[in-house]
Amino acid sequence: MYNPKSLKAEEFIDDNEIQETLAYAEKNKSNVKLIDEIIEKAKLRKGLPHRDAAVLLACNIKEKNEEINKLAEQIKKDFYGNRIVLFAPLYLSNYCINGCVYCPYHAKNKHIPRKKMTQEEIEREVIALQDMGHKRIAVETGEDPVNNPIEYILESLKTIYGVKHKNGAIRRANVNIAATTVENYRKLKEAGIGTYILFQETYNKERYERLHPTGPKHNYAYHTEAMDRAMEGGIDDVGLGVLFGLSTYMYEFVGQLMHAEHLEAVHGVGPHTISVPRIRPADDIDPTSFENGIDDDTFCKIVACIRIAVPYTGMICSTRESKETRKRVLHLGISQISGASKTSVGGYDKADETEEDSAQFDVNDTRTLDEVMKWLMEIGYLPSFCTACYREGRTGERFMKICKSKQIQNCCHPNAMLTLKEYLEDYAKPETKAVGEKLIAKELETFNDNPTFKAKVQEYLKKIEQGERDFRF
Ligand code: SF4
Ligand code: SF4
Repeated sequence: MYNPKSLKAEEFIDDNEIQETLAYAEKNKSNVKLIDEIIEKAKLRKGLPHRDAAVLLACNIKEKNEEINKLAEQIKKDFYGNRIVLFAPLYLSNYCINGCVYCPYHAKNKHIPRKKMTQEEIEREVIALQDMGHKRIAVETGEDPVNNPIEYILESLKTIYGVKHKNGAIRRANVNIAATTVENYRKLKEAGIGTYILFQETYNKERYERLHPTGPKHNYAYHTEAMDRAMEGGIDDVGLGVLFGLSTYMYEFVGQLMHAEHLEAVHGVGPHTISVPRIRPADDIDPTSFENGIDDDTFCKIVACIRIAVPYTGMICSTRESKETRKRVLHLGISQISGASKTSVGGYDKADETEEDSAQFDVNDTRTLDEVMKWLMEIGYLPSFCTACYREGRTGERFMKICKSKQIQNCCHPNAMLTLKEYLEDYAKPETKAVGEKLIAKELETFNDNPTFKAKVQEYLKKIEQGERDFRF
C-alpha cells in the first residue's frame, strides 16, 4: 500500500503506485487541457507531485514540450540565477565486495587494479585538486568493510580538510559511500561532511535485485531506506540519483520523485541534490548491453521535468556527459557540474601512472578545469566554488526555507563572484582571468540599486586582490 510517510521502502516506493502513475501519464500524454493545467500549476514554482510531473515527461506534443523547456529554464534562473557550482570527485579506494553489473569495481572483476590510497597519497591528491582551484569535492569509495571501514573514511576526511596548500582549501567534502548504519551516519556528520550522496541506481525492485546479485547492496530495502537512517543520524543534506539506463526512464523518474516526496513528508525536507548519471562505458562494462539506454533528447527532457517538479533541489551533471550535452542541460536545470574529473583512485596526482587502468567510468568531457571555467563564462554562466551554506549552518530545513523563498540567490550570486575572484587570482590562465574580470565587473552592476551591498562586495574583492581569502555571505 502506497504511503509516503512510511519508513518501509516498499510502501514509500510502492510499485503499484508507480505502475498506476505510468498508466495515467501514458493515457494523458496528449491531453492538452490537462497538460496546460499542470504547466500553470508548475508556474507557481512550488513543484509538482509525481503524477503531474510524469504527464509532462510523457507529453509528446512538440509545442507543449517547448513550453516545458522554457518554464524549466525560467525556474532555473529564478532560483539559481546564472551561477554554476563546480566540484570534483575524489576516489579513495576501489575495493568493493558488491556485484553491481554496471560498475567495473564489482567484486568479480579480477583484472582491474585495486587500490586504496594511504593518507599521504590522499594528501597529494588533495594538493593536486587544490592546485586546479577546486574547493568542493565528492568523496567516493567502494563498499568493503575490511578495506574501507568507516574509520578509514573518517581519517581520510580529516586529512582532506587538513590540507592547506598555498591559498587552497577543500571547504566542503560531500560523501558518496555505501548505505550504512545510523551510528556511522552520525560519525560522518560529526566529521563535517556536506551532503551525503547515495545513488539508488534503480527504483525497480525486481531489476535492482537482478543488477545487484551479490554483496550487501543486494538488499533493496536497506539501500532504499538509507536516507532515512542518514537523516536520523543528523545529516540534513542528502543527494539522490538513479543511473539512467538500468530500468525505463519513466519508472526511475517517478520513483525518484516519490523518494523526494517521502523525505519531505517524513523529515520535512526534500533532497538537497539530484544527480542525473547515465550509464557509460568502463573497463568490462558495455552500455549497449543495457536495453534502457536513453538518447540526448530524452535526457534533456528528464532534466527539465525534474527542474520543474523540485525547483528548490540542486541538480548535478558530471563529466559522464559531453561538453555539448552539458551545455544543453545547464540551460534546463543543472546547477552543479564536475570539472576535470578523474574517476580512478589516485587520478589527480600526476606521479601516479596506473590511474587510467582503474577508472569507474570513461569520462566524456575531458577538458581542464580552466577550460571549463572559461567556457562557462563565455556561454553566459557565473562559475562558483561557493561552499558558504553548510559552513554558515544553512543546511536542511533552514536551507530549504531560504531556497524556497528564492532568497538564496542573494547569497549565491555574490559568493560566486568572490570565489571566482579567488580562482582568477590563484589559478586562472591569463585569458581566463581576462574573461573573468570582465564578468565580475558586469555582475557588480546588478547591485547598483543597493549601493551599501555593492560596496561590501567591492571591499571583499579588493581584499582578495590583496591576498586575503574566504569571504562569504
Ligand atoms: S557501484 Fe559502488 S557498490 Fe557497486 S560495484 Fe561499483 S563501487 Fe561497488
Ligand atoms: S550560497 Fe549556498 S546554495 Fe548558494 S552556491 Fe553557496 S553553498 Fe550553494
